Amino acid sequence: MAWYTEAVRLELQPEAREQPKIRPTQVIFHSIVAPWDEHRLYAYWKNSTSLESHFGVDFDGSIGQYLSTTTRADANYQANLRADGSGAISVETASNTKASDPWTDEQLDALADLGVWGHRTHGIQLRACRSGSDSGYGIHRMFPQWSPSGTACPGEKRAAQFRAELLPEILKRAGKPAAPAPGGTKNPSVSLRHIQAAQRRDPGLPQGGTTYKAEGLVVETALYREGLLAKRWIDGSLGSRTRPAVSEWQEKCGYRGRRPGEPADGHFGRDSLTRLGQKHGFRVTA
Ligand SMILES: [Zn+2]
Repeated sequence: MAWYTEAVRLELQPEAREQPKIRPTQVIFHSIVAPWDEHRLYAYWKNSTSLESHFGVDFDGSIGQYLSTTTRADANYQANLRADGSGAISVETASNTKASDPWTDEQLDALADLGVWGHRTHGIQLRACRSGSDSGYGIHRMFPQWSPSGTACPGEKRAAQFRAELLPEILKRAGKPAAPAPGGTKNPSVSLRHIQAAQRRDPGLPQGGTTYKAEGLVVETALYREGLLAKRWIDGSLGSRTRPAVSEWQEKCGYRGRRPGEPADGHFGRDSLTRLGQKHGFRVTA
């Protein structure tokens, strides 16, 4: 039996009693296509369908657990229980009714911790699954063995978040860096032209897309140390999460928007980038 201490225990019967045991080797994330909290999800599985998951995660990050992770769940087709006794831990998440919304910050935080728990408790491999039966983390749509007729689950935005945010965060929290840490050499240098190009280009890329990743990481780490950017957004992508942090830094430097009351524009100029580098140990080149 394996129950996650951060989850509310809402055990489903008769499933818990009657379904076979599994040895969990995967974690598969879903969107439920409904804005339901963990209690509403329990009622749905109790009364309406037997395609239950082990966990449900609400928008606010609260978690329900419906079955021990050593009991088979039924949402992942052939990955529920394979001939060798292995199977998937299944995680549903609240979404809008089209599964077109991204995971909230609170969901991402809860999912990352849950992913780490899966690694520590069951030895789930710290990587994206490389095949339908390979140990690791995945999203429902990844392999045909995971759904009988194909699925878009968990939706485009969450699929992008899985690669760019959730999986790297699980690896990071489990103690294995997802990307080389910035600042490995003394006083790295950052090109103003590169940072400005990345600020123009990255917001239009899929979530987490990068133009000059290494230099972006240096700048984001500085913004994080300055208390302006959450740690999870240090990804080298100078997108919509980074711009407000840059704006705040510019205001610390005394800049304001063009019109009275407008915030600073959030696009680095030479002075604001140079001053950030002077404070946090990087050089700025042309
Ligand atoms: Zn699904």
